Amino acid sequence: MGILLEKNNGYDVITDEQRQEMEDYCAQYIDFMNAAKTERECVVECIKLAEAKGFKPYVQGMELKPGDKVYYNNRGKNIDLAVIGKRSLAEGANIAAAHTDSPRLDFKPQPLYEDEEMSYLKTHYYGGIKKFQWVTIPLEIHGMVCLKDGTNKYVKWGEGDEPKFVITDILPHLGKSQASKTLGEAIPGENLNLLIGSEPVKDKEAKQRFKQHVMELLNEKYGIIEEDLMSAEIQAVPAFKATEIGFDRSLIGAYGHDDRVCAFAELKALLDMKEIPDRTAVCIFADKEEVGSMGITGMISQAFEHFMNSLCKSQGVDLYDCFSQSFCLSADVTAALDPIFMEVFEKNNESRINHGIAICKYTGGRGKGGASDANAETVAYIRKIFSENGVLWQLAEMGKIDEGGGGTVALDMANRNIETIDAGVPVLSMHAPFEVVSKLDCYMTYRGCKAVFEARK
Ligand code: MN
Ligand code: MN
Repeated sequence: MGILLEKNNGYDVITDEQRQEMEDYCAQYIDFMNAAKTERECVVECIKLAEAKGFKPYVQGMELKPGDKVYYNNRGKNIDLAVIGKRSLAEGANIAAAHTDSPRLDFKPQPLYEDEEMSYLKTHYYGGIKKFQWVTIPLEIHGMVCLKDGTNKYVKWGEGDEPKFVITDILPHLGKSQASKTLGEAIPGENLNLLIGSEPVKDKEAKQRFKQHVMELLNEKYGIIEEDLMSAEIQAVPAFKATEIGFDRSLIGAYGHDDRVCAFAELKALLDMKEIPDRTAVCIFADKEEVGSMGITGMISQAFEHFMNSLCKSQGVDLYDCFSQSFCLSADVTAALDPIFMEVFEKNNESRINHGIAICKYTGGRGKGGASDANAETVAYIRKIFSENGVLWQLAEMGKIDEGGGGTVALDMANRNIETIDAGVPVLSMHAPFEVVSKLDCYMTYRGCKAVFEARK
C-alpha cells in the first residue's frame, strides 16, 4: 500500500468468483424489487425470505439463546430482525438500519372525482420528488384498503397485464407558458391527478356517470365503496420493472433503490450468516424516512426500543447499557457523481459508480446542518472492518457545499447513544421514478453489511 490514496474502479479489483457471486446476488435483488414496491410489500417479502431461513416472530417473554433468529413486525410497515449472538447484549449489538419507504404519490383521503367526462384520483406527493418526472409515465396503484366491517384488503392494481394509470401533461404545442415557468412550478402538486377512466355508466340520468362507473368496477371486484377510500392508505408507484441497464448489463434500473437497495443488502447479509455471530446482529427496515422518520413506524418510534428491550430483558440486560455499546450502520444511498451534472459535484469528494459502498461521515447541508457527524474513531473502525473483509469502499459527501443536502436515520440512531455511521450504495437520478445503481456497488454493500454483522468489535 502506497502513501497516496488509491481510488480503484471495482472492475479492476474484483475476482472472478466475486463477480459470479455479484451476478447471483443482483438477480435476487431484482426479484425482490419486482415483488416489493411499497414498505408494506417489503415487510411481506422480508418475512417470506426470513422464515425460509428459520426466523420466527418474536413473542413477548420468549426465551432466547445464541443462534436464535427472531423478527418483530411493527404494524406491517416496519420490521426488525435479530440473530442472537454468543455474547451478552450488555456488550452491544451490531445493527444495520435501512428504510423501505420511497418517494411516491399517496392518495388524498377523498381522491375520486370526474371532470369533463373523465375520472381521476387526486394524490398528495410523499417525500422529495421532482413533480415533472411523475407525469406521462405508467403508474400502478398499491395499498391497504380498510373496510368498515373490519376486513383489510391489500390491493395491487396495474400489475402484469392489468391496465395502468397515468398523469397527463400539456402538449408542447400548447406549452408556451408552461415552458417559461421553473421546473419546480411547471407541474403544481394539485395537478398530480391520475387518469383512471373515461366510460360512463349507461344511466344518462346518473349524477356522476363517470365516477360512478369506476366505483361500480371497484365495488364489483373488491367490495369497496367510496367511503372506504377515506381510511385507505394507497400509493401510486411507477409501473416499471427492475431491469439490467447498459450493453454490459453492469447497472440496475428500478423504482425505489432508495433505500431498498441497502435494505436488501442488510437482509441478505443477515440471512446468509452461517455461524452464530459474536454480537447480536439486528437488521432494520424503517418506514417514513423520506418524510422525517416520524410516526409509529418511523425510526424515531419507540417500537425499536420495545423490540431491543425485549431482547435485553431476556438476558437481564439494561437497554441503555446495550445501546451505549452497540454499533449501527445507517445503510442508506448517496448521490453518485453524474458527469452530466458536474456543476453540483465536487469531484474529489463524491461517490463514484463501481467504486464500492460509499461511507458518509456526515450528511446534512448548509454547514453540516442536521448532520449526524460520525467521530473519527467511528470512521476508522468502519474502514478497518471493510478493508479486512475485502469490501471495496469509498468515502463521500453529497454534492458541492450549499448545493443542498440530505438526511438519513443516522441521527435517530446516534441520538440513542448508539455509535452510528452512514454508508450505502451510490445512486444516479435518486428519487426519480426510475433510479440507477451499479451491480458492483450493490454487491459491495451486501459484503459491507456482512462485515458489520460479523465484527467482534
Ligand atoms: Mn434514503
Ligand atoms: Mn431518499
